[in-house]
Amino acid sequence: MTLHSLATPQPGPTVLDPHLDRYAVRTAGMTASEIRALFAVAGRPEVVSLAGGMPNLAALPLESLSAQAAQIIAEDGLTALQYASAYGMPVLREQICDVMALEGITAHPDDVVMTVGSQMGLDLVTRLFCDPGDVVVAEGPSYVGALGSFAAYQAQVVHVAMDEHGLVPEGLRAALRQARNAGQRVKLLYTIPNFHNPAGVTLAVERRAEILEICRTYDVLVVEDNPYGLLGFDGRTYPALRSLDPDNVVYLGSFSKTFASGLRVGWVLAPRAVREKLALAMESATLCPPTLNQMIVSRYLATHDWTGQIKMFRENYRERRDAMLSALEQYLPPGCTWTKPEGGFYVWVTVPQGVDTKAMLPRAVTARVAYASGSGFFTDKSGSRQVRLAYCYPTPERIREGVRRLAAVLKAEMDLARTFDSVGSRRRPGPERGR
Ligand code: PMP
Repeated sequence: MTLHSLATPQPGPTVLDPHLDRYAVRTAGMTASEIRALFAVAGRPEVVSLAGGMPNLAALPLESLSAQAAQIIAEDGLTALQYASAYGMPVLREQICDVMALEGITAHPDDVVMTVGSQMGLDLVTRLFCDPGDVVVAEGPSYVGALGSFAAYQAQVVHVAMDEHGLVPEGLRAALRQARNAGQRVKLLYTIPNFHNPAGVTLAVERRAEILEICRTYDVLVVEDNPYGLLGFDGRTYPALRSLDPDNVVYLGSFSKTFASGLRVGWVLAPRAVREKLALAMESATLCPPTLNQMIVSRYLATHDWTGQIKMFRENYRERRDAMLSALEQYLPPGCTWTKPEGGFYVWVTVPQGVDTKAMLPRAVTARVAYASGSGFFTDKSGSRQVRLAYCYPTPERIREGVRRLAAVLKAEMDLARTFDSVGSRRRPGPERGR
């Protein structure tokens, strides 16, 4: 059993595609992410999937939500099922300002533009700002969906390193300086400051102002993607970049991780000058965000203890994070390192030299565990020694079992790498033999 035999065949852009010559040039940059291919595998019951970042919705109050959805249609159906403003529902945009206030943001509802998930916000912002060849600076590694949007608009990504305190300001400054010297136009810094996907780290509070200052100096707009900010395990929140520099930060928010991802309700808090262009882009993409879904979210925020619900989610994720960290400690072979997330969904693991995590993936799937290999989170050739493990969805027992299986595959891979290495070094000509 291999990854390929498990995955549902996808109609891909192969030689059989009769439209190959017709695609726009930018379409060539659009390729299925490794993670999408993995979703097909991950659904198999025998595979422990530590690959996809699916929110765990089990704690949602489904009965009262279904009663509310029925009530919205019964009482207000002609509005709920109708087109509406491209900006989104005014009441919900006001409520969103209260949500963002938890991270120090003071915003006016007029500056909030509703989107179909924050993914759409990301796509629209890239569309508004990036011409082909423009540079987007992003953490290395970075969110795969963002890399997909940047590729679709033919923007070039320059990665900047992170450490355990998030994006490294000196690295950012150096990257911007280098791009400027090379005559490149850097349009955006795309950053996930809190509980990073995939790295699991959080940007230190002391670095935030400095990073904003650097972007000001180099005239770069900041895109702050913050779907996990309220999922800190100790309940702590961090000051949003947007709260520190409202005119130079576009903030992306989402209810996917704090309520229900399937509703596809996200938003952009844009600097005032940008919001109208965003609404126009929204109109051309989809006319308006889904009215019924916005009404469901709005009613939920008005009538449920939504902060209590987030607390339940956090506790659930914390339990899973603990299970994963202790299993990593117990099972992974020496030489592996990993991040220790204080919130969110992901652990970023680095394996010893000689192991290629992408090449190892089919063997892991055969051993009934799936992960996201690190290379999918970079646009350069990095990430071959990394994996992203998502602990959000499986039970703690399954997480432990998945890590145990992964460790066995990894050990076999390391043995193999050592064998190759010793064979290789025996074959390699020494100084005297080489002459
Ligand atoms: N940004 C990040 C960092 C994410 O992890 C995700 C989802 N995994 C998104 C954006 C998109 O979320 P959504 O469209 O569901 O709001």
